[in-house]
Amino acid sequence: METKRHCKRCGERFVGRSDKIFCCDSCRNDYHNHLRRERNKGMNRVNRILSRNRDIIRSLLSRGVKSIGTRELNMLSFDFGHFTSMDKRFLGRTCYHIYEYYYYFSNNGEVHFTLKE
Ligand SMILES: [Zn+2]
Repeated sequence: METKRHCKRCGERFVGRSDKIFCCDSCRNDYHNHLRRERNKGMNRVNRILSRNRDIIRSLLSRGVKSIGTRELNMLSFDFGHFTSMDKRFLGRTCYHIYEYYYYFSNNGEVHFTLKE
């Protein structure tokens, strides 16, 4: 049965089947694209943090810096709360992976970086 309804996207009135909620394909697509962007926001934020951590490690290693204090890393905006995985491969120490790199803390509190073999 055809009834008058309001489009869920633009609010325009339209006539259509009772289960139809958008006035046209464009409104339906816009609405679902908007929902997808909202769902991806959190993921994009984490990806940016991981990417920045990775850039910092790559930049340090390219300058021959293989270890650095946590304070200096913090000043570079390194985020210790985000990594791609972790394990205890290196002498029983916890290794934090960031894509192709990993790091661990030594006894003196420095952070050591390595490119995975
Ligand atoms: Zn519409």
